[in-house]
Amino acid sequence: MSRLCVVCGGSRGIGRAVSRLLAERGCRVAVVSRNQDAAQATVVSLTGADHMAFGCDVSKGEEVQKTFETIQKTCGNISYLVNAAVLIQVKDMVALLHTNLLGSMLTCKAVLRSMLHTQGGAIVNIGSVVGLKGNAGQCVYSASKAGLEGFTRSLAKEVASRNVRVNLLAPGFIRTDMTVGLREGEGVRTIPLGRFGEPEEVAKAVLFLLESPYITGQVLVVDGGLQLAM
Ligand code: NDP
Repeated sequence: MSRLCVVCGGSRGIGRAVSRLLAERGCRVAVVSRNQDAAQATVVSLTGADHMAFGCDVSKGEEVQKTFETIQKTCGNISYLVNAAVLIQVKDMVALLHTNLLGSMLTCKAVLRSMLHTQGGAIVNIGSVVGLKGNAGQCVYSASKAGLEGFTRSLAKEVASRNVRVNLLAPGFIRTDMTVGLREGEGVRTIPLGRFGEPEEVAKAVLFLLESPYITGQVLVVDGGLQLAM
């Protein structure tokens, strides 16, 4: 049976690119987003069969628990988890923290029982260079991502003895819905490689972390060199 991977925030952007790459590599993918129709639209675009779409708000504990129970009952043990769901608006600080930080904690908790039992699995949480370096005007978003880094490193230490790996991938500016308004701005000139990244370029790095059996507790920056200029 091929590996089962859950991609939270898989209906668009980086999560969708990760879902596509994993499917191309023969994984079965469970695509999770609040909008089930959007998740289903990703599923129908994937190579191969046996992929599934789930409507779930990762910021809601009970919903996450029920969704992951359903995934495991219908599809089997989860080998990989990718957390790419995001809320960027700062209008509601609590909602932002609940989606970006608590949401990833809840999904990790929901997969860990089975990963620890089967003594295998890999998790990639998607952070941000802003979480590593800070950015004026993005205090809450940045705090959510910095928190995710601390969570990732601590969890990696906790579960390593059971052969479960946890890493953080920190993108810079990537061409997705989240950055639509920024593409023509000054920011692009500060990127050493001189352009925004593509979701598919991030997906390759996510796959690398998922499939590298001796890497855990690490932060991999995928930002065209942006961090050097921050
Ligand atoms: P997009 O806005 O393109 O996609 C966000 C995804 O998250 C959608 O599938 C959305 O679906 C889902 N989502 C949002 N809220 C929830 C929720 N509460 N529960 C479940 N799913 C949810 O984002 P990106 O692909 O750009 O971002 C992916 C990750 O990369 C995020 O962690 C982001 O912080 C990070 N990142 C992105 C950068 C960029 O430049 N794009 C830069 C640095 C970091 P739906 O609305 O249906 O729920």
